[in-house]
Amino acid sequence: METDFNQEYSESGLTNSSDMLNLIRNMNYKAELVRAGKEMLNRHLTVETWGNLSLRDPEKGYVYLTPSAMPYDTITEEDVVVCDLDGNILEGSRKPTVEKDLHLLVYRNRPDINAIIHTHPEDSLVFGVLHQDIPAVIDEGAQSLGGTVHCAEYALPGTEQLAINTLKALGKDGMACLLANHGAICLGKDMKEAFKTGTVLEMEARIYLKALSVGKPVVLSDENVAYMRDFMLHHYGQGK
Ligand SMILES: [Zn+2]
Repeated sequence: METDFNQEYSESGLTNSSDMLNLIRNMNYKAELVRAGKEMLNRHLTVETWGNLSLRDPEKGYVYLTPSAMPYDTITEEDVVVCDLDGNILEGSRKPTVEKDLHLLVYRNRPDINAIIHTHPEDSLVFGVLHQDIPAVIDEGAQSLGGTVHCAEYALPGTEQLAINTLKALGKDGMACLLANHGAICLGKDMKEAFKTGTVLEMEARIYLKALSVGKPVVLSDENVAYMRDFMLHHYGQGK
């Protein structure tokens, strides 16, 4: 990694430390996105080339997107596409994910979010196929997802309508939503949190599905969900 950076730096012709700092930051976002693509496969949150991921640099407002239709285990930093919040491509020669506009619409409307993973998770998608929301039935769901996960109305992949329906289903503070007959959108303040969102959503869907098969699941009260979400956001962890 260090060798690659030194080589790129020496070949870049950059002469001052702020250019160098920008190059380091740029590389970190790209490396993080490449690593996250592999993690999505390893965590079984998608198969083959489906799904996509993005990161936002909150300082510059740049968005880093995975390329379209490339296997995650072959994507390198050069394949990452960088654009601004209006969708103008700033860097990269690959065609970006077909859901580029969906990612950008979420970032423009949710300043609290800097990472988005679009997953195709099996158990969550059972409810997406039924066009059903997933209620808060486990404490982890209340803490990490903040309540009911809504299913966005169906629209074709890659369309503006899908982006609009997604934003509506997420609302102003939702951390995840289902895409009807398609998959899920999972948000985070960073990539680590986006994966937590995706993992907890899939766990909650799996447990809810099993509970439905043997009885009538008890949904957590709005009051308890609000208490746990607030605790997670403001008091959970060392030093809070
Ligand atoms: Zn998809």
